[in-house]
Amino acid sequence: MENETVLNIGFDDTDSPKGMCTTFLAYKIVDLLQKQKTEFLDFPRLIRFNPNIPWKTRGNGAVSIKIKTRNPSKIKKQIKNLVSKYSDIENGANPGLVFFQSDSIPSEFVDFSNLALWQLINRNSGKKFAKKNNLEFFYQGNGQGLIGAIGAIGYDFQDHTLELLSYRKKQKFGKERKISTQSVKNMQEKTFPNTYNSFDTKKGRVLITPHGPDPVFYGVRGENVDSLVYATKILKSDEKLDGYMIFKSNQGTGDHLKNELDSKTMKPYASGKITGIVSNIPKIVKGGHVFFKINSNNHEFWCAVYKPTGISTVASHLIKGDKIHVGGGVRKASKNFPRIINLEFIKIINLEKNNSITNPLCKKCNKKMKSKGQNQGFQCIRCGKKATKKTSIEIPRKIRKQLYLPKISAHRHLSRPLQRIGIINKSTKFDKSLSWFCVYRN
Ligand code: ATP
Repeated sequence: MENETVLNIGFDDTDSPKGMCTTFLAYKIVDLLQKQKTEFLDFPRLIRFNPNIPWKTRGNGAVSIKIKTRNPSKIKKQIKNLVSKYSDIENGANPGLVFFQSDSIPSEFVDFSNLALWQLINRNSGKKFAKKNNLEFFYQGNGQGLIGAIGAIGYDFQDHTLELLSYRKKQKFGKERKISTQSVKNMQEKTFPNTYNSFDTKKGRVLITPHGPDPVFYGVRGENVDSLVYATKILKSDEKLDGYMIFKSNQGTGDHLKNELDSKTMKPYASGKITGIVSNIPKIVKGGHVFFKINSNNHEFWCAVYKPTGISTVASHLIKGDKIHVGGGVRKASKNFPRIINLEFIKIINLEKNNSITNPLCKKCNKKMKSKGQNQGFQCIRCGKKATKKTSIEIPRKIRKQLYLPKISAHRHLSRPLQRIGIINKSTKFDKSLSWFCVYRN
């Protein structure tokens, strides 16, 4: 038996579009460790990375677990077996698994994780990092999974949310999920503002159930354990579930957009934010998508706002000279378009006056005068009053100095919802007595 040691376990890319889910593997690992009375030092961590990388299965999420053990060798072996057993390699999963034995996490890990949050990391960098830092690591396929595995261990929370994920019994995988819509609505009302984005009140749509073949039945996101467990009591479904687990997560923190995009960092697939001045008249294309340019530090950047975000109308009302702060993901240049930022929010900092030069108004009749021909002035057709020059009038702006967020149906896992604006949750302390993990015995 070895001395007691702290073991961090990071893993990613075990799933494919055809099934499985890295969080379900985490649930299986925790179940196994619980049965061996392992001491957990924190919630399992579900970390979402750059949502723009092209090869993600769904939400680019990775998991890490922190435990205390006297027998790390046995645990590592067991986990390796579970990762091999549950990874959907035939359907394209490239699992990565990393073990790091230490209570504190060195800054190199944190830096790696921060980079994975907003840039595209070369797959070999994961292997290089693991070798350089003497990590025990395993991968199958192309090793892409090591990026998320290292990043999940290194992620340093400045704010967090929690997500309670409930899992189905195996025989239900792939079958339709049936949950009472009314119960989801009630749950949202009763737990607000401690849960978020469960129900789209505008569309009457349930947002907590995924649609794919993965083992998740629903996921409720919020600020504390009690509210999430309370939510499970309100939700109604006839399906007998296997159990649930609560993850600590960077979902809902907007963390992928905290870095500045500029001429150097605006690489394909990067995510970030930028402040600039609108430099052309926005173009509305077929389908209602809006394209415009901003100037920032003497560089021009194209921005796109797609119709389904619900903020394309805001973009269409921008005019040259407006100062805005925007965030989003960089789409690589195509044959028809240069590199472009797909916007995930628009914050209007300053609105230009929208002046329009028109024919003068007759003060008596309150009617626009008619032009009498080139250089011949203007005349009121009703009273005959004359004027020589055109006048400038101010057209009221249809948008305001405020933050515009997409509809919740267009939110990404990392998007900060309106109710979390200005909120920093640092309060959740991990405590073994919390109901963070449960396998239903039925
Ligand atoms: P799910 O959300 O269902 O777990 P997923 O969307 O996380 O699925 P993965 O199958 O994990 O999809 O694929 C994402 C892959 O991209 C992983 O291999 C991960 O290590 C890697 N990855 C994550 N962030 C980056 C990044 N910034 N640069 C390069 N690769 C990354």
